[in-house]
Order: sequence, then C-alpha cells, then structure tokens
Amino acid sequence: MRGIWFSELQTPDLAISVRLNQTLHHEKTPYQELAVVDTEAYGRMLLLDNIIQTTVKDEFFYHEMIAHVPLNTHPNPRTALVIGGGDGGVVREIVKHPSIEKVTLVEIDARVVANAREYLPEIACGLDDARVEIRFEDGIEHVRQRENTYDVIIVDSTDPIGPAVGLFSAEFYRNVYRALKADGVFVAQTESPIFNSRLIRRIQSDLKEIFPIARLYLTTVPTYPGGLWAFSLGSKEYDPLEVDWRQAPQVATRYYTPAIHQAAFSLPPFVQEFLEAPEEEEF
Ligand code: SAM
Repeated sequence: MRGIWFSELQTPDLAISVRLNQTLHHEKTPYQELAVVDTEAYGRMLLLDNIIQTTVKDEFFYHEMIAHVPLNTHPNPRTALVIGGGDGGVVREIVKHPSIEKVTLVEIDARVVANAREYLPEIACGLDDARVEIRFEDGIEHVRQRENTYDVIIVDSTDPIGPAVGLFSAEFYRNVYRALKADGVFVAQTESPIFNSRLIRRIQSDLKEIFPIARLYLTTVPTYPGGLWAFSLGSKEYDPLEVDWRQAPQVATRYYTPAIHQAAFSLPPFVQEFLEAPEEEEF
C-alpha cells in the first residue's frame, strides 16, 4: 500500500486505517497524546490517544445531531453547557440558534482547543462567538457544583477512559439533573450500539430512573467504530418526539433535518432487544 498509514484499533479485533498525507502536529498534553493529521480519505483529523475524535469530512453528522436534537427539543434554549467538545464543533452548531444567550464550554485540556483553532478552523470557528465562555476544567466537578443553571447540557466527551470515565456514571447523571433548569434537556454521546451495547443499556436504565423522559437516538458517523453511533437523552419536561416545528429556528445544516430528528429515535430491533434484555442476559 503506497505511503504511510494510520490505524486506529477500534476494538482488539478491528481497526480503521487511513492513508496519511502528513502529520501536522503531535504532542503529549497533560491529559493525553494529541495529533492532527491530514488524510487522503477524510481530510484533517484530530486524534487523542490514537483514537479518531473528529475529521473535516464527516464531523457534521455527529456535531449537528448532538446539538440540534436537544436545542430543538427545548422550545427556548438560552443557556447551554458543553462538556468536552474542545474541537469546537458542537459549539459551532449551538451558536446557530438565535435564542442562545450563553454557551459554556468546559474542556479539561486547553491544548485541544488551541490545536483545533490552529489546524481545524472550520470546526473550531464557533469558539470565537461572543456568547461563548471557555473554561479549562473537569466537567464532572463543574456539574457537581451547579444547580438550576442550564437549559441544555451536552456531553461531547472522549470514550469512557481516563478523565472521561466519570462522565458515564449514574452519579454524574444525577448531578446533571440538578444542574439543569426545571425544564432542561441533557444529551451525551454514548458510544457504539454495535460494540458497546452493555454500556448503552446501563446508561438508558440510569437515565430512566433520573429523568421523566429518557430516550436513545442514533446516527451514522463513518469514522467511529461500526459507523453507527448512539446519543442518550434525558429531559425534565419536553419530549424530543413532540417538537413544535413551527417554533424551531431555521439553521443551516448538512445532515440534520426535522425528518431525520424524528427518524433518529426509531430504533432497529437489535437495539430494542438489548435495551429490553434483562440485566444478566448475554447479547
Ligand atoms: N466528538 C468526539 C467523540 O465523540 O469521541 C469527542 C470530541 S472532544 C475532542 C472530546 C473531549 O473531551 C476531549 O477534548 C477531552 O479532553 C475532553 N474530556 C474528557 N474528559 C473530560 C472531563 N472530565 N471534563 C472535560 N473535558 C473532558
């Protein structure tokens, strides 16, 4: 195979490989190994601990779906919190909503924001919006210390390893519930329905105990393991399947539409099965 290739080991038995044009940046931050590479197939790509985080070619599938579903579920979102999201893609989508007055981005690693700004400006561009406040701290602690503060909370974290582990816990979800306003909406990226079904089932079970409305929705993300990705949603008042689309703002998107919003919650039988399987059942 011509040229140099990068492979991400997505599971012990599965890798995705991309031909590299060049490595644009590589460093060890206080939290993780960080690289930005330019690839033939997906353009520039952010890697953290050798795991593909986002690519210029397919980032919009994920960033539009994690942002516009909760922001259209809430009829008048004014304050939003993003945990993780240091590449800026989720913030770029949030600031498209005219109702938004303030976005707080809580990213533990300042080097992710600095490198996204330098090498991925088309993804990080929303970070310069006057409504955005960036805090370099642990999202777990940030949420623990807040009450009745945010209309929307979005967790755009790395996989449940290292500093992100606590972002997938029931205790964290209970703290999110308290940090949300009385009619707040929460969404987190919750991994692959193909390779992480046990994690997703446990998370949905936790959210059902904490929120009056708890749903799972799916989208495709070509560069993520299995190409199908899950988002877990918890809502204190508004149902994502009962949006008044006459009120929803018209925002420029390349993947998200009201029809795709609705369809994303239609779960295939294999997902329904593992969500409904009793705890001990193997699947
Ligand atoms: N969209 C990507 C995905 O789904 O894998 C992730 C985007 S973003 C690069 C993930 C960010 O989460 C990283 O920049 C990482 O530093 C940050 N992160 C991990 N744990 C965190 C924590 N406890 N508090 C705040 N940020 C955290």
